[in-house]
Amino acid sequence: MYDDNNIFAKILRKEIPCKPIYEDDKVFFFNDIKPQAKIHILAIPKMPVTDYNDFISKADNEMIKYFFDKINEVAKGQGLINSGFRIVTNNGKDANQEVPHFHFHILGGENLKGIK
Ligand code: AMP
Repeated sequence: MYDDNNIFAKILRKEIPCKPIYEDDKVFFFNDIKPQAKIHILAIPKMPVTDYNDFISKADNEMIKYFFDKINEVAKGQGLINSGFRIVTNNGKDANQEVPHFHFHILGGENLKGIK
């Protein structure tokens, strides 16, 4: 079940600060507080969904396409299309998901060898 008090829910409600990259009524992108690469952005849908499984079960096709298109737009805006980038999501316990609001990590800005 979705926990309204998770840290990304608080960020969405502007109860705690972050460094925003892009926001509209459907999605929010902001910098990871502990970046694993020169560019490390978190992409979240504005839906109460805990993980990838929850998102893909509840979001309609329009939202899924919208989310992935925005990830690409943000990657483009960061100059990552030519240099390359990684998108990754941790789903659940064995993936060590820390924050139970579904998110993708967008990593880039340097060679990602050795970076998870
Ligand atoms: P995950 O392990 O996939 O759930 O990733 C959670 C990510 O959230 C980690 O990379 C953390 O560094 C990041 N994080 C945790 N708290 C914050 C915060 N307040 N602002 C930005 N990023 C955060």
